[in-house]
Amino acid sequence: MNKIPLVNLERQYECLRGEILEITDQVFRSGAFISGPYVRTFEKEFAASHDARFGIGCSSGTSALTVILQALGLKAGDEAITTPHTFFATAESMLAIGVTPKFVDVDPETHCLDVRKLEAAMTPKVKAIVPVHIYGNPCDLPNLQAFAKKHRIALVEDCAQSHFARIGGKFVGSTSDGAAFSFYPGKNLGAPGDAGFIFAGSESVSNIARKLCDHGRSEKYLHDSVGFNHRMDGLHGAILSLKLKRMPEYTKKRVALAKRYQSAFAGKGYKMPAAYPTAEPVYHLFVVEVSNRARVLESLNAVGIQAGVHYPVPLHLQPALKFLGYARGSLPVAERVADRVVSLPLCPELTESEQDFVIQKFLEVAEK
Ligand SMILES: *Cc1c(COP(=O)(O)O)cnc(C)c1O
Repeated sequence: MNKIPLVNLERQYECLRGEILEITDQVFRSGAFISGPYVRTFEKEFAASHDARFGIGCSSGTSALTVILQALGLKAGDEAITTPHTFFATAESMLAIGVTPKFVDVDPETHCLDVRKLEAAMTPKVKAIVPVHIYGNPCDLPNLQAFAKKHRIALVEDCAQSHFARIGGKFVGSTSDGAAFSFYPGKNLGAPGDAGFIFAGSESVSNIARKLCDHGRSEKYLHDSVGFNHRMDGLHGAILSLKLKRMPEYTKKRVALAKRYQSAFAGKGYKMPAAYPTAEPVYHLFVVEVSNRARVLESLNAVGIQAGVHYPVPLHLQPALKFLGYARGSLPVAERVADRVVSLPLCPELTESEQDFVIQKFLEVAEK
């Protein structure tokens, strides 16, 4: 039986193997293992690719979030509004610097932060809002920007799943006070290990963020602030540069495959996340809602199709965040979404015939 994984990294490696081995050899010969020229080149390329002015490579998406929040002045005792329908790191990165996440429910149509519910969550302690472009589906950025401006709080986008997504013709992450990207291997742009990226909205914030990633040093052994080790590795920078060139093609393939799923399911009444007007999603995940998820996962798995759930437990109900005091039922839309979403295989390497098999098996078992 041919297995159809959620993301086929082996197939991608087969295509890129020659180039990856060659650049790996170059990095080893240069000895530029941490930061250095390969990382600097990638920083320029990735920032330019998104029309961002200030970009910093770092060790993960999680550290990117922590560092940009810290660079924007968030500190222990502050609060930040975010979504419960995301990966744990969105909130964890805040708690790492003593900032308390304040969860606001999601829009049932897009699964992104519901801007209509922001005002009620506002307190003097809230110093930032951290929307997540979940599945690569851009949030309602125009209204989020207006909200942040009105309350004079920072807007930091979690772009871990949304490389090259656009809204209003602009790339996500490029117009806010800050943004964080992840290059976790399975993300739309993936490194051979953990890596991340920070966009800063100003030069001063960019300088602070860069320092925080590198032990707060101003010279080799002179430290004028206390930072941490959040640096990007040279090998990661070099391989990310190589893969970055293919992103237009990879993104186009993701979008085309997503459209095929959509046209197969829409006529049959299944509910899938909608996009805001002018949004151009990049489909890190292809998500559809079902009422019998356990059965769907079991049936697909039985024929070698690896489906996933992103994410089964909303953050406000995570055991580790119990101390925040949210009860079940407090964010009903996110809870309902978490019970119903299933992610089907999607990556640039998925073939149409594999996808047709997934569609056929899904339709045999999935209930609305
Ligand atoms: C992957 C991810 C992160 C964390 O990124 P890492 O590189 O794994 O640390 C944060 N937020 C979201 C939405 C993610 O999907």
